[in-house]
Amino acid sequence: MRVQFWGTRGSIATPGPETVRYGGNTSCVSIRTRRGTQLVIDAGTGLRALGIALMTEGEEGRRGHLLIGHTHWDHIQGFPFFAPLFEAGHEWDVYAPRGFGPSLRETLAGQMQYTYFPVNLDEMGATIRYHDLVEGSFMIDEVRVTARYLNHPALTLGYRLEVDGITVVYASDHEGHAHAAALGMPLGQVLGALHPGDNRHREFIAKADLLIHDAQYTAAEYPKRIGWGHSTIEYVVDMAIAAGVRQLALYHHDPSRTDEALDALVVAGRQRVRDAGASVNLFGAAEGMVLELDAPDTAVAPARGDAQASIDTQDLADKQVLIACTDAALAEEIREVVRSEGLSAVIADTPQDALLAIHPQQLALAVIEHQFGDTSGLSLLRALRALEGLAQLPVIMLAPAEACAQEESKPLVAASAAPAVTEWLCPPFTPQYLRTKLRAGLLRTRARWQAPPIPQQEMRRLAALHALEILDTPAEERFDRITRLAARFFGVPIALISLVDRDRQWFKSRSGSLVQQTSREVSFCGHAILQSDVMVVADALADDRFADNPLVQSEPRLRFYAGHPIVAADGSAIGTLCLIDHKPRHFGAAQIKALRDMAALVERELQATAVSC
Ligand SMILES: [Zn+2]
Ligand SMILES: [Zn+2]
Repeated sequence: MRVQFWGTRGSIATPGPETVRYGGNTSCVSIRTRRGTQLVIDAGTGLRALGIALMTEGEEGRRGHLLIGHTHWDHIQGFPFFAPLFEAGHEWDVYAPRGFGPSLRETLAGQMQYTYFPVNLDEMGATIRYHDLVEGSFMIDEVRVTARYLNHPALTLGYRLEVDGITVVYASDHEGHAHAAALGMPLGQVLGALHPGDNRHREFIAKADLLIHDAQYTAAEYPKRIGWGHSTIEYVVDMAIAAGVRQLALYHHDPSRTDEALDALVVAGRQRVRDAGASVNLFGAAEGMVLELDAPDTAVAPARGDAQASIDTQDLADKQVLIACTDAALAEEIREVVRSEGLSAVIADTPQDALLAIHPQQLALAVIEHQFGDTSGLSLLRALRALEGLAQLPVIMLAPAEACAQEESKPLVAASAAPAVTEWLCPPFTPQYLRTKLRAGLLRTRARWQAPPIPQQEMRRLAALHALEILDTPAEERFDRITRLAARFFGVPIALISLVDRDRQWFKSRSGSLVQQTSREVSFCGHAILQSDVMVVADALADDRFADNPLVQSEPRLRFYAGHPIVAADGSAIGTLCLIDHKPRHFGAAQIKALRDMAALVERELQATAVSC
């Protein structure tokens, strides 16, 4: 099942520089089942972009079901801008709660009267069927839908969707029934005497694989907003824990919330989960975010949201990291990083030393050389894991590139007899890269950042690049013209001509960016040069190779990337023409073709350089 967020904001759309990452559009989520059934929940302003995307899909995008929770503005304003409704041959079923007043159709037609909107509901070309709902269950194709009233000033339904063994619950615009819970009192005190309404809510969201829940306020803000029909983050977290929810998307963000403010709320929410000793995977719903959900017995796509996972430093005080490494200089480099994370480091250059030097109760992580002196790092790993309390010890294995590549491609928990390594790390690396691996190891999750692999013909490739004598030369109009055109044509803030050198990427031309170069390790282009055609990363946060990359997690907060390799006369890929955006994007066949053409122009200019030299 594929779940995508098109609008995550509550109350009113708030586009702007401070809401770029979580998004400014109002409520809209799409769900596509394995069999292709298309469901959309809520028709806030995010619906417009979904409509455009569906129009490019052909047959598949012609049929769908739109479930509206309630008809407040922020849940229906996208409706008149939903392109498929204007096309003959498209068929949509629209569902919303039946109230006492006008029917659903009348309400939607109301916001399209000539006073408000130029086109009348009757003039839309698609076949639209309206369904007024009450509480209960029904089927939409293979999806079981349970509608349940929420606590909101307008009659509002939440939707529980069950299909293929997966449960998604959408509960937006709901206020906790008991104020104690909403005010953030500890879960234990509240649960004992849960309000029947909250108890019912807990049943409704029970065991959801994904809960998308209104979390508009904090407990501190709540006293002035009682009765407005929204939840506090504290209430949502407690309910999710009590209901055994697996993943929780904080949603319907308050319009006053900046990206930074939301990051902080996510961190606080995760802390509340940890304090309760629970394991709910909490994140902030972000516009453009895509989640692939599988039935619970298989793996769940990680959904970490925008905020960086933070390490609980208290837990790690007086913890120890073992560095089992025979290369003294490398060991010292690693020690520096370990120390900068507030941990103590022990260096050992033989397995005997390693086992003697550590305090098993304090050991938090080990960094071990794959080929450790004349023994195997794996045998030390086995010996460590055999010690009391260390069966789950996270281990970063230092290994040459080939071994890393081989091992990283294996599933996380291999069925083989070899003990599972938490992270593979291949020298040389920057302190920043090690830090990410270290944190991931400590958090026992795999770092979602891969440095670009080195191409097979690397020496030849570098020779071809260096022969051009173009690195570190001044900007030239003939290249700048192309990046400027590309940025304008594709409507992206940044377009670059990147040349991938041994340890860095250097930009011959950069439209929209002040940075002259970055390390190769963080570069997307380092990956793109391994492809024969355009490499598109539609949403870096949803991509295991890039989600934790510093270019994604901090400035320039890259979300979208498309790069076409630039090839030298001998066929070596020396760099790319690439596009960057701060929001996820769709990049279709026509755009791929245009980027290919522009890359050919860059190649022609480069070859002109070669001739003139
Ligand atoms: Zn709302
Ligand atoms: Zn509302």
